[in-house]
Amino acid sequence: MGTDPAGPSEHKGQPGLVSAALSGLCPRCGAKTLFAAPAALAEECGACGLDIFALERGGRFVGVVTMLLALVLILAALGIDEWLRPPLWLSFLVWAPVTVGGVLFALRFYKTMWVYHQYEERAE
Ligand SMILES: [Zn+2]
Repeated sequence: MGTDPAGPSEHKGQPGLVSAALSGLCPRCGAKTLFAAPAALAEECGACGLDIFALERGGRFVGVVTMLLALVLILAALGIDEWLRPPLWLSFLVWAPVTVGGVLFALRFYKTMWVYHQYEERAE
């Protein structure tokens, strides 16, 4: 569609949560400062000084979400193993990155969602 990816942020909306999660965009200034590590939030925004650590407090479901996702992925892996019976090295080759990537993305997405939610609540 006709959206300009490099367009300036307007009042209409924030960047999509998915792209915010992938790039780790600060909810206040939009700098890529939200994550200090692939799945760990920074303590504060290096560009605008937003206290991300304070916003993250209370996000206690993160661990549960990750565990559930890992469980689902492992069950899926076991199910496919039963079904196709691929050689072990192949299962490992496929599922190790899928699991790691899935968990990392879920963590990032969940934390981003949480921080944005908290940020909006405080902004009101
Ligand atoms: Zn910022």
